[in-house]
Amino acid sequence: MPKTFMPGFSNREELLSHQLRGLQWTIQHAYHGSPFYRERLTAAGIQPDDITSLDDLRKLPFTTADDLRRGYPLPLLSVPEAEILRIHASSGTTGKKKVLAYTRKDLDDWVHFFARCYEMADLTPMDRVQIAVGYGVWTAGAGFQLGCEAFGALAIPAGPGNVDLQCQLLIDLQSTVMCCTASMGLLIAEEIARRGLKDNIALRKMIFGSERSSDAMRARIKDLLGLEDMFDITGMTELYGPGTGLDCSRHEGIHYWADYYILEILNPETLEPVQPGEPGEMVVTTIAKEAAPLIRYRTRDLTRAIARPCSCGSVLPMHDRILGRSDDMFIFRAVNIYPGQIDEVLSTIPEISCEYQVRLDRRADGKEYMTLKVECDLAADQGNYTEIAATVASKIKSSIMVSSEVEVVAYGALPRSERKSKRFFDNRA
Ligand code: ZN
Repeated sequence: MPKTFMPGFSNREELLSHQLRGLQWTIQHAYHGSPFYRERLTAAGIQPDDITSLDDLRKLPFTTADDLRRGYPLPLLSVPEAEILRIHASSGTTGKKKVLAYTRKDLDDWVHFFARCYEMADLTPMDRVQIAVGYGVWTAGAGFQLGCEAFGALAIPAGPGNVDLQCQLLIDLQSTVMCCTASMGLLIAEEIARRGLKDNIALRKMIFGSERSSDAMRARIKDLLGLEDMFDITGMTELYGPGTGLDCSRHEGIHYWADYYILEILNPETLEPVQPGEPGEMVVTTIAKEAAPLIRYRTRDLTRAIARPCSCGSVLPMHDRILGRSDDMFIFRAVNIYPGQIDEVLSTIPEISCEYQVRLDRRADGKEYMTLKVECDLAADQGNYTEIAATVASKIKSSIMVSSEVEVVAYGALPRSERKSKRFFDNRA
C-alpha cells in the first residue's frame, strides 16, 4: 500500500526546518490572536520576530493545566469565535474539565494524523475496526472513528464497556482490530477464553489508548487471543486528542508526529533537558494548531527520548512508553518512584501474571512499608509462592532500590476493570 498519511519529507533536516517554520508561525499566530499568550510572551520579553532557530524554543514561557482552567471554558483561544467548529473536553480527575476548541484545519489535521496511526499499524481498507472507547464530549470516540474512516477501514462504533456486546460484535461482524484500554483488552481476552470463543472470532490486532500497557499484560492478551500484533496509541485532549503517536510493528519505541508538534523532555523540577535516556516530563509545542495552540505545555506525562532511529526507516522520531504522570510519582523512603517503573520490573518475571497491586502503609513503628500483591501466572500456579515472592522482592530491590513485602495470590484473584485499573493504594497519610 502507498504511504498516504506519512509526512512528505525523507530526512531529519527537512523535518527540523518544517518545525522551525511551524514554531515561527505559532508564535506569530498566538501573539496576535490570543491576549493570554501576548501577555505571557511580552512578560517573557519575547517578540514574535525573535524566533530565528529551534533553540529559541528554550526562551519561551511554559503553559500549564492551570492556564487552561483559568481560561475556562475556551482557554488559549487564538482565533475569532466564528472559526471554531467543535469543542472537546477531557475527563480530568480533579476540578473543572479541560475544554479545547478546534478550527476546521485543526479537525482536518487531527483526522489526518489519526489515519496515520492506522497506516503505521499496517491496517488495510479490508480491516474492521471495533472502537470500544468513550463517545461524546471526550476526544476518544471521534478521533478513533473519523481517523478510521479517513484511512478507509470499516469503523464499528461499539463504545466503551459492555463485554457481552463487544463479544457479540467480535463474532457477528468478525472485527479484525479492536481499539480500547489495555485493561479492557485483558478483560475481553479473558472473557473470550472463558467462553471458549477464540475460534469464532477474527481479531488480529489491538490498539491500546489512555493507559500504559505493560509487556506482561500485552503478552497475556496476545496469547489468549492469538493476536498478530498490538500497539500503544498516545495523545491527550490538549494536544488534539488520541492519535499523536504510535509504536510501529518493530516496537522499538513510540513514533510521535514531530511534523505537528515539538517534544521536549525536561526535568519536572528544574525544567532543564534531562540527560539522554533519562525519564522526564513531556513538554509539547504545537506547530500547526490554530484554535488553541500550545506553547511549551507541561503535560505531566513522563517518558524517555529514544535517540536511535527505528529500524523501520521512518523519519518520525520516537519516545519510550509513558512511564506515568509526574503527579503519580510517589516518594517512598526517600526514593522517587513512578508507577510505570514497578510494572517494568514485574514484566520481567515470568512466574507472575500481569495484574498487581501496590500498597503503601505507615505502621506502628512509624516506618513506611510497601506491599506488593502479585498474581501467580496461570502456567506457574503449581509453583512455590514463597520462592516467587522472594524473586519479586529481590528484583524490585535491585532495580528500584527499595524493600518490599510481596504477597503472591492465585491467578485471577485481583480485580479486573473495563477502564483503567487502580493498582496503587497509598494509606500512609
Ligand atoms: Zn518504526
